[in-house]
Amino acid sequence: MRRSDCSWAGTCRTFLTDLLKWFLKALTRHSRRLRLTSDAGHRTRASTTSHDFKFHLSSMCRGHLISDKSELIDELKRTIRDVHNFPKPGIVFKDVTPVLLDVKLFGQAVEAMAEPYRSARITRVVSIESRGFLFGAPIALELGAGLVPIRKPGKLPAATQRVEYALEYATDALEMHHDAVQPGDRVLVVDDVLATGGTANAAAQLVGGTGAAVAGFSFLIELDFLKGRQRLQGRRVEALLHYA
Ligand code: AMP
Repeated sequence: MRRSDCSWAGTCRTFLTDLLKWFLKALTRHSRRLRLTSDAGHRTRASTTSHDFKFHLSSMCRGHLISDKSELIDELKRTIRDVHNFPKPGIVFKDVTPVLLDVKLFGQAVEAMAEPYRSARITRVVSIESRGFLFGAPIALELGAGLVPIRKPGKLPAATQRVEYALEYATDALEMHHDAVQPGDRVLVVDDVLATGGTANAAAQLVGGTGAAVAGFSFLIELDFLKGRQRLQGRRVEALLHYA
């Protein structure tokens, strides 16, 4: 092969490699822009429709398997495990851990719990120890809000504010970092179960003490027969599953 042929082949190879790199970069940029546009479109359209339709739209846009809210509710109810006499006799404990094992179901539960608050301009999601963290963290990401853990006494490292409260099956106290929520914040309180409402009410008191606004509550499960909602009167309360 002549020397000039070699250098010509080299130039061609460099040119084709550069062209390929440019094409891949352009493709990545374009697909990112498309994703942003469809997400923004989805959010804008969704905010003008009913909750159920919003959910349906959201599911279609994200390509999830279960597109109907009542189907999702049925699937969640089939998956959540009732553990009798835990943590003490007479209590039917709603064990949500099987939901966490199912990636699609977990994702859809989080999405459905966040859905009613998409246009509520939430700046902080306050989640209650411990199972509240499991849903609070992904909901905070979903809503683009900061996450604030509310914990049992002595667990948070920095200075805290504290409130005492009564549980369905115990009494306890909750603490929140003193600087986690500021006046002007719009706060969503998240937990797995609303039972008597004592825990959620205590969380709202902690938040209220900072001068921030409690925009609402989101629960995976509401035990309707315990009438916890009554303790949260005057506030927006959303729960995905109801047990009469
Ligand atoms: P309450 O303050 O009575 O509304 O109780 C709510 C808190 O207790 C939540 O953080 C729940 O995780 C937990 N809890 C109360 N009852 C149950 C139950 N039957 N199954 C699972 N968790 C429960």
